Amino acid sequence: MTYKECYQYGREILQKAEVPEADLDARLLLEYVCNTSRNDLLVHGDKEVESALWEQYKMLIAKRESRIPLQHITGVQEFCGLTFAVNEHVLIPRQDTEILVEQALKRMAPGMKVLDMCTGSGCILISLLSLCQGVSGVGADISDKALKVARENGVSILSIQDGTDKDAKLTWVQSDLFENIEGSFDVIVSNPPYIKTAVIEELMPEVKVFEPMGALDGMEDGLFFYRKIVEKSISYLNKNGWLLFEIGHDQGEEVSTLMADAGYEDIKVVKDYAGFDRVVLGRLG
Ligand code: GLN
Repeated sequence: MTYKECYQYGREILQKAEVPEADLDARLLLEYVCNTSRNDLLVHGDKEVESALWEQYKMLIAKRESRIPLQHITGVQEFCGLTFAVNEHVLIPRQDTEILVEQALKRMAPGMKVLDMCTGSGCILISLLSLCQGVSGVGADISDKALKVARENGVSILSIQDGTDKDAKLTWVQSDLFENIEGSFDVIVSNPPYIKTAVIEELMPEVKVFEPMGALDGMEDGLFFYRKIVEKSISYLNKNGWLLFEIGHDQGEEVSTLMADAGYEDIKVVKDYAGFDRVVLGRLG
């Protein structure tokens, strides 16, 4: 089999299985198996692929055909220019979440302390620490299995071991929301589960079957975690501290109201690059 023939094979199978972006995934899996780049398909398409690699490619295409997410097969996802390890215990980092990172960075300065509530893979907190020097952070999640992933990402991306003393630069805490959180923060960021329970059924199989339900389900009206976090955040934010949320495209008004009712000021809704409401933020006056 040539490189190009392998790709055609993968494309056809994934297209038939109605995998979104079938062509792209067929190419990315081929590059993953052969350790090649995008250029190789154009320039070296007629090169023979070793039979062991072809066998491996067929196996991975079969996995993707069964709608296992690409990132669970390759084990990684890029976010904010960094490579995060992922598995079935964490939400796969989404590009939209980079808006939250961008907005938090605008409000951060060296010496500040950041809390990332529902940290999952740790992508938000690790990106913030990587992009803003001299900041320390706490990442909280209810899931020990998620924290294991976050901790490993902290080590591989930032080369920081999990600290336990109060001045540590990076600490991971197993916590049901604020249950085990101590101290106060200048910035609290969170991308909590926010999908209405009834809507989860409509999601594509990659998400509803393979991503952790606990990272998706925002309960009946999707706002369960925003209510809890807004209410508690007040006791954990320093004066003039910022609370920033990622939200679903139709939650801007409701989350803004929750924050206003709790005493937040300068509340703003920020759109993503597709033009949808994506982040709500406010300052604790
Ligand atoms: N904070 C993580 C992310 O944004 C996980 C979010 C979640 O599990 N809801 O990817």
